[in-house]
Amino acid sequence: MVIANNLNEIKKTIPEGVTLVAVSKTKPIEDIQQAYDAGQRVFGENKIQEMSDKYESLPKDIQWHMIGHVQRNKVKYMAPYVSLIHGVDSFRLLEEIDKQAKRNNRVIPCLLQMFIAKEDTKFGLDEAELIEILESEAFSKLQHIEIKGLMGMATFTEDQHLIKEEFTSLKAIFDKVKNNYSHIPSLQLTTVSMGMSNDYLLAIECGSTMVRIGSSIFGHRNY
Ligand SMILES: *Cc1c(COP(=O)(O)O)cnc(C)c1O
Repeated sequence: MVIANNLNEIKKTIPEGVTLVAVSKTKPIEDIQQAYDAGQRVFGENKIQEMSDKYESLPKDIQWHMIGHVQRNKVKYMAPYVSLIHGVDSFRLLEEIDKQAKRNNRVIPCLLQMFIAKEDTKFGLDEAELIEILESEAFSKLQHIEIKGLMGMATFTEDQHLIKEEFTSLKAIFDKVKNNYSHIPSLQLTTVSMGMSNDYLLAIECGSTMVRIGSSIFGHRNY
């Protein structure tokens, strides 16, 4: 019941048009089933093996989002079913996703992960690298990926001003790309994935359309 209650409390704070990704990494099947029974259909995981095991055991109308760092040699395991890959941070990874999507006769929706934090522990592209990918001829040849938007993680800090600055910068890059590159067929820009348990309200204020919330729904994780 706790999970269903948490979920309902959070949903009340999320405006229409913002998608809630329930981040279930490290949590057991039973917890996910509880959230499912309370109506949640979108779940986020950060390990491909764990996500695939859960995919096998849970209802097939769940949309599985890969929110973690992706190793190229593991893309094949999620290619048949993944519904959105948030953490795409290189052209080589995008190429591999395209290849595996083609093998599965589908198009895989992706977000490009941007590096917006003032820490060197997080992954992501900077603006110049993003533009380089979008303008490259090699990118224009990929037919089995669709870029739905951008994803970013703010610095792990109490400093709300800094977090706000980082979220705002991600939204600004999104708007710029949307204005300048919307003629590219594989860009279907609808999504700014930013905001976690501690900062999602601020992220929504700054233009987030997709929040990734784990511990506020499922409780703290024991690694
Ligand atoms: C774990 C994780 C989350 C959820 O974090 P919480 O603080 O538990 O809400 C969101 N995004 C990513 C990329 C994560 O790895």
